[in-house]
Amino acid sequence: MRACIHRGSKQIGGSCVEVKSCGQRLLVDFGLPLDAEENNSQYLPKIDGLDGCDPSLLGILISHPHLDHFGLLAHISPKIPVGMGAAARRILEAAAPFLPGNWPTPSEGWNYRSGQSFNIGPFSVTPFLVDHSAYDAYALQIESGGKRIFYSGDFRAHGRKAALFERLTDNAPQNIDTLLLEGSSLGRITDSQKFPTEKEIENHLVQIFSTTEGLALIHTSGQNIDRIVTIFRASKRTGRKLIIDLYTASILEATGNINLPQSAWTDVALYIPQAQRVQIKQNAWFDLLKRHSTNRIFIENLKYLSNKATLLFRPLHRFDLERGGCLAGAIYIYSQWEGYWEQGAYDMVKDWLERHSIPKLSIHTSGHASTPSQKF
Ligand SMILES: [Zn+2]
Repeated sequence: MRACIHRGSKQIGGSCVEVKSCGQRLLVDFGLPLDAEENNSQYLPKIDGLDGCDPSLLGILISHPHLDHFGLLAHISPKIPVGMGAAARRILEAAAPFLPGNWPTPSEGWNYRSGQSFNIGPFSVTPFLVDHSAYDAYALQIESGGKRIFYSGDFRAHGRKAALFERLTDNAPQNIDTLLLEGSSLGRITDSQKFPTEKEIENHLVQIFSTTEGLALIHTSGQNIDRIVTIFRASKRTGRKLIIDLYTASILEATGNINLPQSAWTDVALYIPQAQRVQIKQNAWFDLLKRHSTNRIFIENLKYLSNKATLLFRPLHRFDLERGGCLAGAIYIYSQWEGYWEQGAYDMVKDWLERHSIPKLSIHTSGHASTPSQKF
């Protein structure tokens, strides 16, 4: 068995590894580089068979649903089977209609079950569920011809599923010939520096929520399920209802996990911003809307909830919040990678906050392992 790293060894994300045995090939991850300005085919690595016409390319195994690991699926033949977690697949399908650009929906293939091996041609593949900021993320063990590769995907040990990391390291796969380990934090933080845990983020949010007189606007990815749970828990602890829009409601539903906050829970409410009303009408998503409308509230009601609510904020909400007069005493909490903010991706939010004199805080922790975890 031979492995070729096409991308990901000298940069964070954009990962793609080709594995070959007995003349047959698998790709492991197929990511869009993080610094790509848009998702287009110029970023495709030079690999034979991406047109679906080379039977030696057996399929593509995706570790987790982050664009820097699956984004380039948008540009290849749908005939190539794709493996990933079943919940991850559902999340990508649920997200697709809401998102602009080339958001890929993966072809059918293999649905992972943690610890259960399956065969693809000469390869035996074993996925292991890991703790990461993407839901349903896996490390992959690939075996062929008596050799074993272990590919970690992205992982951490300080999320809400940290027990998965302990489980994996306590029962580590044996006789690994080649370890391909993600090292996003290496060289970016000191060896002893540790990222805050999701539990610590929860406590920090509790502190801020309890001293905020108005609406708490918290800006995070609707697909960072760990963070949404953290925000939900902090809201509940401070007597606040979590307000989500139809996009987040659909993503939470797509997890298929009834233990995660859902639109019908009593401490959760659905609010539809104007931009989504237009989408609902244009796409006739009336069943989807009905399914999530048990606790629907309208913008006129939101201002009366004020310090009894946390809104999972997205930039498209700002016009509605303005119009609804919901901003007295509000706070804005930025809860994702600081790089997006620094690169100017949210300059429109920055201006809006200044215009309304809304204070900004950053409360976040990395989706990647700190160095001590990587040295396990
Ligand atoms: Zn990731």
